[in-house]
Amino acid sequence: MSSQTPDLKSIVGEIVGDMKKRGDKGKVATYIPELANVDPDMFALVVIDAKGDVAAGGDFETPFSIQSISKVFTLTLALGMVGDRLWRRVGREPSGNPFNSIVQLERERGVPRNPFINAGAIAVTDVIVSGHQPREAIGEILRFMRFLADDHTIAIDRAVADSEKRTGFRNVALANYMKSFGVIENPVDFTLGVYFHHCAISMSCLQLARAGRYLAHSGRNPATGLSVVSPERARRINALMLTCGHYDGSGEFAYRVGLPGKSGVGGGIFAIAPGKASIAVWAPGLDSAGNSHLGRIALETLARRTGWSIFGV
Ligand code: GLU
Repeated sequence: MSSQTPDLKSIVGEIVGDMKKRGDKGKVATYIPELANVDPDMFALVVIDAKGDVAAGGDFETPFSIQSISKVFTLTLALGMVGDRLWRRVGREPSGNPFNSIVQLERERGVPRNPFINAGAIAVTDVIVSGHQPREAIGEILRFMRFLADDHTIAIDRAVADSEKRTGFRNVALANYMKSFGVIENPVDFTLGVYFHHCAISMSCLQLARAGRYLAHSGRNPATGLSVVSPERARRINALMLTCGHYDGSGEFAYRVGLPGKSGVGGGIFAIAPGKASIAVWAPGLDSAGNSHLGRIALETLARRTGWSIFGV
């Protein structure tokens, strides 16, 4: 790997220019009706290096629905609350199944495979809800996001949360199924309400890359100097992002990009190059596994141009 810092600004500028020109954009998610209204031509890429220098291009200040990317941060919060006891409620293995699959859950007696598939993230949310009113739990998650990004303007898009609440029947099924095994402690409505709201957090790529810097720097946010998690916990969250962050596309993402990352059906991907950079990309069109199509291609190009893949150049 080159010891010279690559010229990130020109790499990011070229990638954004290339991606804006492409016709193969994938398909915007429609199963949450409100997400279907997003402009498929949007594209943004932000890279924040270890010194805090920002390379950004495209619509990088436009907020979008972070959806499942929020699961990285709720996992961080829940681990902070109950530590390793969390792993009694959720596993740490890749699922090899779609994000909202119910089949595996039956075989594994209501214990979800990992914290990033929907069932696992709902179980993690339930941990955060325990001992709180749903409103307090939502406030706690939002405050945590604002603290991480050092930005008090971050908000929840109520229209997206309500849209998913009206149509999220599959998640209702997953939650009820887990409840029948005692994996969910709180009323299903409470836990799902909080889950839908944290998925509906709106953030720009710039805010997201800032919020995730602690995972690129051994648990400490270099901007604030504050430690968010221990180096060991940061390493483990990164391992889960690498193995489980893209549902049944996780192997392909590791193969092509080689960085820990988490996708969301809003078309965002948050990724980190350990010790080097925090990265956020947004392109609303998805591939067949529900991951951002151009987002993945942009990250593949970025990893190749910088030599940042954790597996070598
Ligand atoms: N809120 C979405 C759901 O539960 C998140 C899915 C995703 O972003 O992958 O279906």
